[in-house]
Amino acid sequence: MASNIRYLSTRGESTGASYDEIVLRGLASDGGLFMPESYPQVTAETLESWRKLPYAELAFEVLRLFASGIDEAALKEICRSTYTEKTYCNAREGDDPKDITPVRWLEDGIGLLELSNGPTLAFKDMAMQYLGALFEHLLAREGKTLNILGATSGDTGSAAEYAMRGRKGIRVFMLSPYGRMSDFQRAQMYSLEDPNIFNIAVRGTFDQAQDIVKAVSNDHAFKSAHSIGTVNSINWARVAAQVVYYFKGWLAAAEKGEAISFAVPSGNFGDVLAGWIAKQMGLPIASLIVATNENDVLTEFFETGVYHPRDAAHTYVTSSPSMDISRASNFERFIFDIVGRDPEVLKRLWHVMATEGEFRLTGELWERVLASGFTAGKSTHADRLATIRDTWERLGVMIDPHTADGLKVAREKRLPGVKCLCLETAQAAKFSKTIIEATGTVPAIPASCADLLSLPQRCEVMDPETENVKQFIDRHTKE
Ligand SMILES: *Cc1c(COP(=O)(O)O)cnc(C)c1O
Repeated sequence: MASNIRYLSTRGESTGASYDEIVLRGLASDGGLFMPESYPQVTAETLESWRKLPYAELAFEVLRLFASGIDEAALKEICRSTYTEKTYCNAREGDDPKDITPVRWLEDGIGLLELSNGPTLAFKDMAMQYLGALFEHLLAREGKTLNILGATSGDTGSAAEYAMRGRKGIRVFMLSPYGRMSDFQRAQMYSLEDPNIFNIAVRGTFDQAQDIVKAVSNDHAFKSAHSIGTVNSINWARVAAQVVYYFKGWLAAAEKGEAISFAVPSGNFGDVLAGWIAKQMGLPIASLIVATNENDVLTEFFETGVYHPRDAAHTYVTSSPSMDISRASNFERFIFDIVGRDPEVLKRLWHVMATEGEFRLTGELWERVLASGFTAGKSTHADRLATIRDTWERLGVMIDPHTADGLKVAREKRLPGVKCLCLETAQAAKFSKTIIEATGTVPAIPASCADLLSLPQRCEVMDPETENVKQFIDRHTKE
């Protein structure tokens, strides 16, 4: 077995559960998020011994520290089959195709950690592809099937579909708002022909689609009768898989013992949380720079100690849409560490937030946040355009709007003399409208996606009614 680490809930339930049990469960039964009982430690010597490992082997070394209940040989095979040159084939010209996550230096001490070379051209492939292989293994082992239900406004849904397509024991039912995604995102999802992928386009908004998913999930009888599950960003297996590329980035950029910083375009706080965990494991990280767009709840928190999530009416639609989130679900895991892993303190804060709309950290707790190495900054539409244009005209590198938010804030908040890697969370080709607005140039589409827009598309269009979706799932899970 890979490790004997146990998991507990941020809300107090000490489950004693292992990794193989929690990854299929999502939330703990008390509504909290799963966390490892303690963070495995990696010494400077171990880090040095990982210098030359290919991505798949590094992933195995890091993930085995978390993967209790999984057979080591099986985990090794999952990593080997996931992190291949073939799957991550969309690297920039000049990058080494064997390097799953290349680093590209832009200017003195600032580089991009390129995480978007997978099939959907966004960093979510890095963890989702692994999750697909892991689920397939676990379901085969238990003789079970899983029907994944989700709602997407673009990136998550396509990453999930490309990770699960053709896998045994798994079906995906993905709701999307009809006519409200970019042409590229629509083509990516609706052109899939795999019989286990079902695209449901609802005549309504993303929020309506999301509400239907919640309604179906709250019908516990239907949920268990149809083996419904999710793959959202609170899934621990996704967070742990993201820890790997912080190690990979550090190994590519730093000398022995050298602390570097990471700047992370953030929405649900899953990506940057993985950096926090890498730091807790002993990776020398000087600072974690959280970049937000106009939806700046996290920036406000790291500047003032006030956490004030916004409601839907105050969540803005921006040109970095995958960061249009005002309630960052993984934030609870960070706060759990900040309150000394005391679930009673955490529950008190969440209660204050529920009754007063916000909480404020003061005194010793706020001191801990200040000492955590986190800083944050905000980037607006104008900043985004300026950063995309400048990076293109001055450096000849095309970046996407989310990465531009990260880079803008990285330049502002980096520590003098400390290297900083900005996580590249998507490729420009996915967001051509904004790229054209910024540069007047149409971004190049990677070869693997070249004919995507001309492929036939299929999806099931329906009115946004929970009953319609239930009936559709029922019909397609019978055999
Ligand atoms: C999901 C996503 C983000 C935000 O990541 P979180 O883990 O939710 O903080 C940023 N950029 C892109 C392109 C994304 O798809």
